[in-house]
Amino acid sequence: METANIAAQKEKVMQVLKKRPLIISGPCSAETEEQVMATALGLKATGKVDVLRAGIWKPRTRPGSFEGIGTKGLPWLQAAKDATGLLTAVEVATPKQAEDALHFGVDILWLGARTTVNPFSVQDLADALRGVDVPVLIKNPINPDLELWTGAVERIDRAGIKDIGLIHRGFASYGNSEYRNAPMWHLAIEMKRRYPELLFINDPSHICGRRDNLVAVAQEAIDLDYDGLIIESHIDPDKAWSDAKQQVTPERLGAMLDEIVWRKETV
Ligand code: PEP
Ligand code: MN
Repeated sequence: METANIAAQKEKVMQVLKKRPLIISGPCSAETEEQVMATALGLKATGKVDVLRAGIWKPRTRPGSFEGIGTKGLPWLQAAKDATGLLTAVEVATPKQAEDALHFGVDILWLGARTTVNPFSVQDLADALRGVDVPVLIKNPINPDLELWTGAVERIDRAGIKDIGLIHRGFASYGNSEYRNAPMWHLAIEMKRRYPELLFINDPSHICGRRDNLVAVAQEAIDLDYDGLIIESHIDPDKAWSDAKQQVTPERLGAMLDEIVWRKETV
């Protein structure tokens, strides 16, 4: 991109990050060029989505399932962004992934829950991002440890990243629960108290693990004054290559966002 275009895009990113509610959506995983484009066009058509998310490298708990399309999916995101004007966001877990994502024009990076747990990984990423002007969203660690989450924020902050956000995706526990990852709202609220100035996003998809409960969790987050939501969507959710049970079509996402009662000042 030319310098003037880069500056204009950065300005657009800054404007979008200020929008309330900020809505991020897209597939758990980028699977094919057609799937990414169709999902992005569907999301754009709702008129309610600001940022297209897609997993390019997938941190699967156990081996043997789809681990992400890899770098070859990044141009698909760029094409979807060109077609829709949506910003793009990708999870990065290593310096090389961050470098590749930035090379292909990804606007926002995020650290996944399995990265936030590991200070070595977070520090490697922080070192790689030193001097780079890109917003970084930090998911809570898998386990309910606010010091790890705080430590990740501090490492990214000390690398000079100006725009940091928090994503609350719930906390893993052993055994059956109505949630895939229990929200433990009190922990998230304590984190929000520690960092009142940071963008604070809720991830109902990874909290619920299933689509029927998404609106209730999203509503709870909005009632608790979160700045926005990140919700997984897929053009054909049941056939998704990862997290099939929790994804919704772009159309359903639009309807869900209509069901939510928003705080007055944001609508
Ligand atoms: C994801 O966003 O698809 C993901 C892998 O999330 P988490 O890091 O919250 O498990
Ligand atoms: Mn997912």
